[in-house]
Amino acid sequence: MPTSRRQLLTTAATLGVATSVLGAFSPRALRAVEKTDVIIIGAGLSGLKAAIELKEQGAKVIVLEANSRIGGRAFTADHVPGRPEFGASQIGPDYARVLDMCNRLKVKLGPGSNINAPFAFYVGGKLMKKEDWTSAPQNKTVGEERGVLPAALFSYYLRKHMPLKAAEDWLEPAAAQFDVAPGPWLKSKGVSDEALRLMEGGLAPDAWNTSLLTLMQEEARGMTIFGSSTDSSKDRFAQYAETSQHVVGGTSRLPEAMAKALDGAVLTNKAVTDIDMTKTNLKVRCLDGTTYQADFAISAIPFKPLNRISINQPLQGMQAEAVRGMPYNNNTQIHFVLKGTPYWEQDGLDASLWSDGPVTNLRQAIGYDGSRTRAAAFCVGKKGDRIDQLVPKDRGVFVLAELERIRPSLKGKLEVVGVHSWPQYMFVEGCRHSYGPGQVTRWAADMIKPHGQIHFAGEHTRRLDVGMESAMESGERAAIEIITRMAG
Ligand SMILES: Cc1cc2nc3c(=O)[nH]c(=O)nc-3n(C[C@H](O)[C@H](O)[C@H](O)COP(=O)(O)OP(=O)(O)OC[C@H]3O[C@@H](n4cnc5c(N)ncnc54)[C@H](O)[C@@H]3O)c2cc1C
Repeated sequence: MPTSRRQLLTTAATLGVATSVLGAFSPRALRAVEKTDVIIIGAGLSGLKAAIELKEQGAKVIVLEANSRIGGRAFTADHVPGRPEFGASQIGPDYARVLDMCNRLKVKLGPGSNINAPFAFYVGGKLMKKEDWTSAPQNKTVGEERGVLPAALFSYYLRKHMPLKAAEDWLEPAAAQFDVAPGPWLKSKGVSDEALRLMEGGLAPDAWNTSLLTLMQEEARGMTIFGSSTDSSKDRFAQYAETSQHVVGGTSRLPEAMAKALDGAVLTNKAVTDIDMTKTNLKVRCLDGTTYQADFAISAIPFKPLNRISINQPLQGMQAEAVRGMPYNNNTQIHFVLKGTPYWEQDGLDASLWSDGPVTNLRQAIGYDGSRTRAAAFCVGKKGDRIDQLVPKDRGVFVLAELERIRPSLKGKLEVVGVHSWPQYMFVEGCRHSYGPGQVTRWAADMIKPHGQIHFAGEHTRRLDVGMESAMESGERAAIEIITRMAG
């Protein structure tokens, strides 16, 4: 339903924007304001969402995208056999904005998303079925931990000791005490050293360099949607996959439809290099020498590439510190097509594999039509950084050799068809932002404040939601901020 104005007002209320200002505003009034153009930097979901909201309110927008492809981290690898998703795939049941956008633009959704076959485990040098984990001699965890699968350990403890009453509490002053490294907190809850070691894959980069508070917020959000059970038989990924949807034909079809709705306003191969700001307007220059002028801009790009843009009035204080220092997580992927008799029929184990070695996991993807032709290995956090030390073609060779070593039935069954490192993908430089200990408290409030006429969007500026929905949430917020200023 085309309810953008209603949505904006609802979101304004949710985000605490003065609705009286928006109440005085109408699309006609906006059109009456001279030079209402907005330049949006980045055609990921956040930039496209901001552009659509602004356009629907009568503003003239241009979206400048550095890449020849739009969508950013919504990236269906159409060039790779099997067309795997390099980025987002799951659309959660609670993704109101994403679902509404798909509905409005007639982007077709299908049930389930990127369902992975169940996991076998490789821990302490031994390959085993999930049913054997609790009693395995390689299971060196202690007490109740022994019954929790390695991939579910962190979530188990978080749920058991969750201090946040609601996901939105994470930015309240009382939550600041949890803006610390997870390691010491987990140890204070009795977590064994071995459990901590096994958890590290899920705590990228590790238990000492990430903020517990953001992980708590995401878990609290998950508990609201899926309940607070500490049942560890299913990992979170599987839980989300079963209840989520996917874009038929690949996630990239969504940003493509959004760009189409913007009617020629999205320009590709336009890497922004400079922003010159005066009190009343700004000029944006691209790598190809073209320039664009507007009253406002929205930076809808991750902080790492934002560092490459020169701004004549430099960012200040905590905002500057956050843009310079925001850590981003690694996710390096090796994609395979399967050959010959299914390897899982040969060894009788579940087809996906979780490992405590250099490869985080192998996910055997079950297609939406039930077909089983693909698999992908993921190296997350520091494990990804280590693999990225190799040249791209050697990453595939290394990961394949490692998988064949730990699971002999894989020999000759996987063919490498794609390698993708998010940190080395210069348009983004990381899979997702990841506050370090203390950084939520230092940065979260200030880093999204407008800087002159520049506003900020992108998943790293999220307040409540996660993934694609957080990108849309942030684009909507930035659009409302600008509409509010225009109306004033
Ligand atoms: C491996 C992986 C799996 C994921 N899985 C899921 C999932 O299943 N479900 C889910 O909901 N979310 C998932 N996500 C998260 C989701 O993809 C992101 O949160 C979302 O797409 C981010 O959108 P964004 O607009 O904030 O940033 P981006 O998508 O990164 O967009 C930023 C854009 O800015 C452009 N840009 C950069 N520099 C410049 C410049 N100088 N000038 C102009 N343009 C520039 C980039 O090219 C890019 O297009 C996943 C992400 C990854 C990486």
